Amino acid sequence: MQLHAPLAVAFSLPFLTTAAKTYYVDNSCTEKPGWSTYITETMTMAKRTSERLESKTDTDFEAVFKRLFQTGKSGDDYNYVKKTMDDIASWTSTTSLKESDIRIFCDQDKRWEEKKVKGVIKGWFDPINNMVSQIQPSCLKEGINGRTYSRLAKGDHKDHNKNRVAISICDVTFDPTQIIEVPLHIEDAVEKGDITEDGEFKFLSVLVSHTILHEMAHAADKDIKDLPDKETAYGWEEVIKKDSREASRNADNYAFLGLAAILADKGYSLPRINPNDPEDVRKEAEKKAEEGSLTFLIDHTKRALGMLTRAFRG
Ligand SMILES: [Zn+2]
Repeated sequence: MQLHAPLAVAFSLPFLTTAAKTYYVDNSCTEKPGWSTYITETMTMAKRTSERLESKTDTDFEAVFKRLFQTGKSGDDYNYVKKTMDDIASWTSTTSLKESDIRIFCDQDKRWEEKKVKGVIKGWFDPINNMVSQIQPSCLKEGINGRTYSRLAKGDHKDHNKNRVAISICDVTFDPTQIIEVPLHIEDAVEKGDITEDGEFKFLSVLVSHTILHEMAHAADKDIKDLPDKETAYGWEEVIKKDSREASRNADNYAFLGLAAILADKGYSLPRINPNDPEDVRKEAEKKAEEGSLTFLIDHTKRALGMLTRAFRG
């Protein structure tokens, strides 16, 4: 009996930590050409961000982090970002809609029903997830890439997970423009030619994974919003202007950090600002970094590999 006591402790420990969340993907998404590439890329963004933030030698990624979040790798706001990315990176897929924490739909919000009282629309109801919305579901509005819903219908949860959040990825995300051909995933972007032209960071927010990770950040934590308003929440130029508190609570900052992580895996990052360079060289590099220009860094991948080797050593 004595032998069993330490074992009992050992086996009960894992249950003290919160179980990793699960996500369910609706058929409306899996039917989209390229979906598995997009969702894999999104989860890779979260995982590589977590790993790169843990590295002590990945100074290029640290510089991108500082530019996006206006803080170094310590303190409350850093911990908040790290915790959120670790959370998303730990999500596993499930085929059980009702048990899932996060549900992803690509149905152009068609599941929502209008709730009318005497002919007047009083709100919307999603019978699949048993959720309500007082504002019109977004996919039919112009210029909306996705939306995250978290208001549960009152009363009977019909066996649903009580912490459920539903994400809609709108059709426009998969087909952003009819005018020019844009890359939809990272390999596509790298193959389509010069990735180091000015403002590429800004441009690559068209990747489908960028939108999915943006919505996942909302879904991970209800305090992560589009801040301070719809006009200035999105895009490279806007996200780098926020202070650390606002940046760490703004979904698009997470999407750009994830994008930086997978670009780094391809050897790309912002230009390095070398304090030993002459002032004019530093100013030019700073200007390019502010614009979100990418540079191919020959020793970048090596640094990341060094980090991975250490991870395997435990
Ligand atoms: Zn958002």
